[in-house]
Amino acid sequence: MHLYFQHKRVVIATQHRKEDVVAPLLRNRLSMVPLPAQNLNTDALGTFSGEIPRLLDPIMAMRRKCQLALDWVDADFAFASEGSFGPHPHIPFSACNDEMVMLYEAATGRHWIAREMTAQTNFNAAEINTWKTLEDFARNTGFPEHGLVCRRSSSSIDDVHKGIADWSRLREVFEGLLLKYPSVFVETDMRAMFNPTRMQIIAAATGKLIDLLHQECPQCQFPGFTVTQVIAGLPCGACGMPTRSTKALRMSCQSCGATADKNNPHDRTEEDPMYCDFCNP
Ligand SMILES: [Zn+2]
Ligand SMILES: [Zn+2]
Repeated sequence: MHLYFQHKRVVIATQHRKEDVVAPLLRNRLSMVPLPAQNLNTDALGTFSGEIPRLLDPIMAMRRKCQLALDWVDADFAFASEGSFGPHPHIPFSACNDEMVMLYEAATGRHWIAREMTAQTNFNAAEINTWKTLEDFARNTGFPEHGLVCRRSSSSIDDVHKGIADWSRLREVFEGLLLKYPSVFVETDMRAMFNPTRMQIIAAATGKLIDLLHQECPQCQFPGFTVTQVIAGLPCGACGMPTRSTKALRMSCQSCGATADKNNPHDRTEEDPMYCDFCNP
């Protein structure tokens, strides 16, 4: 356990009950003292359902949440998270939940980040005009343990009904909208308290962040000694010239600047000549 964080107060700059999974991890694995946020409206920084567009990149958005939380709660650190959803970048026809978490130090503005990217998500949406289709869609997305949002159309921000989490309410909202519009746009509610699958991913990202904080700098023991640079140049197995493949991972300390290289991270000392720009152009 890293002493740097022991007994330090950390304000959890999240809404939607993410503190339920985050606070126990910070308490048990870092001996921190988690505090709830006050007067925090992170929705002002953008919402999933699009009423408020998200303008900041995820790291800027998390820093902003941490700073806002520290305006109201006297703490040594702040914790924030930022999730995004969309098509999976590597798995065709699959959705992706990209979850980032940050621990931010009030006195210095230093931060540590971890990320969990997964195809384990119910993220989905459809234009629906019959109850039968909606029943199938709802079951496939893990309803009612996972909530749904119904609205007039994907681009519309009026007549938005969020946090639907029981069958009778779903039917009532759906039939009400169908009286007014030819179809209803139904999507999964990605807010953490309506989405236990996402809650697990937030817990996993937080676990990774804590693992990272336990990695100490070999020079000064500062927490969070981690990979900051990928160094290309793994030599070609035939001609020995450097290829674009990874030769080493450089870890560095954000306090004293010490670095250490982890050579041949993929357990390979040379690259297949088929990837060589010199002997196999
Ligand atoms: Zn070569
Ligand atoms: Zn150091």
